[in-house]
Amino acid sequence: MLNFSNTEIAFSAKSDSDLYLAKVLFSAIASNTLVQVLKGATNVALAIHLPIGWAVKPTLYKHFVGGEQLMDCTKTTDILAQSKVRSILDYSAEAGEGQDDITNAYNETINSIEYASTNSHVSFAVFKPTAMTVESVLQKASAKMELTEDEQVKYDEFKTRIYNLCKKAHELGVKLLIDAEDFCFQDAIDKVCEEMMVIFNTERAIVFNTLQMYRHDRMAYLERVYKESVDGGYFLGIKFVRGAYMEKERQRAIDGGYPSPICDTKELTDENFDNGIRFTIEHIDKIETFCGTHNENSNMHLVDLLTENNIAKDDNRVEFSQLYGMSDNISYNLADAGYNVSKYIPYAPVDRVLPYLIRRAEENTSMAGQTSRELGYINQEIARRKKN
Ligand SMILES: Cc1cc2nc3c(=O)[nH]c(=O)nc-3n(C[C@H](O)[C@H](O)[C@H](O)COP(=O)(O)OP(=O)(O)OC[C@H]3O[C@@H](n4cnc5c(N)ncnc54)[C@H](O)[C@@H]3O)c2cc1C
Repeated sequence: MLNFSNTEIAFSAKSDSDLYLAKVLFSAIASNTLVQVLKGATNVALAIHLPIGWAVKPTLYKHFVGGEQLMDCTKTTDILAQSKVRSILDYSAEAGEGQDDITNAYNETINSIEYASTNSHVSFAVFKPTAMTVESVLQKASAKMELTEDEQVKYDEFKTRIYNLCKKAHELGVKLLIDAEDFCFQDAIDKVCEEMMVIFNTERAIVFNTLQMYRHDRMAYLERVYKESVDGGYFLGIKFVRGAYMEKERQRAIDGGYPSPICDTKELTDENFDNGIRFTIEHIDKIETFCGTHNENSNMHLVDLLTENNIAKDDNRVEFSQLYGMSDNISYNLADAGYNVSKYIPYAPVDRVLPYLIRRAEENTSMAGQTSRELGYINQEIARRKKN
């Protein structure tokens, strides 16, 4: 019987010292004041080029990040694989908008697709579409505003980069997740994802678009793209998340004088998420499902759906996923029970991944329930080991 509170399985890969580090980190993260002080200090340190890697590397970085370079992550992918958890290596350097930054993000993604094809412990490749161009172009294209000549060139280059990434993934048989980002960029991203699925998902899903189910329009979107995929004779790859930018989106909608794209309540988001997952599982002959969440109920809901629909636990059209360093109780217990599970593992040099780390810390602080759940499980496991 699947049980997310089995901490012996959840922390089987963690040494005692890893567990104590996790305890100290999540206790610190629980304090909003401490996280805000940390954020301020980090911003100052970055601005004046103060080396702070020595403080971050053995703590936050060690817990949440796989390494500085792609190859550094092999050790982590091997350790996870011992518990039947697979990896998704996510280049998480904070993106700049210069040509060098874009080229670097593109090359890094190509490398990560090639790496995924050679490491059987890596289940998917992934990238952030905004890293592939300047954001203002995506924003104007999404708003269907007329682009200047220079913007049109940049937009075409963006589409070519995405095409090349999908083509590489298709050639090497690597499934490719395209992350979702801010609402104002998403229309253009959706459009290019749909075009890529028509081209590359003819035999199975290679390209996956991400649906943020805190958006109240996503079920209608899912139904539309499903119908188009049936008519067009190709497969859909859908990654579900709730969405990471709720407060920003609500504020933007107020400032911009347009209706908020976000569900009014958490309950509505949860319902939307569950409905989306149900829809894809009920259409598994045409849609592959990637479920990215730390919510225990949502994971259990997907488990139940697989049982109800007589779908094997390890059917390769269904993947569960959590972020590295979070919700190991879900990932390890699912993997132990025979489900397909992958951890999203960020990698990047220390100074370039700091904004990611601060976001993780802030996210855990704002989700008080989640942090206390993590801490509860860690304490439970420490007590269990002491007793034994
Ligand atoms: C593997 C993985 C990949 C991810 N990739 C992406 C990505 O590509 N793009 C992206 O945006 N995010 C991504 N995320 C983050 C994700 O969107 C969520 O922010 C995060 O996982 C928390 O949601 P949850 O389902 O895990 O947990 P829960 O605690 O159940 O849900 C918290 C979420 O619910 C929503 N919510 C909270 N309060 C309300 C409210 N009052 N009204 C309406 N909705 C509310 C918000 O989305 C909030 O983040 C990813 C997460 C994972 C695990």
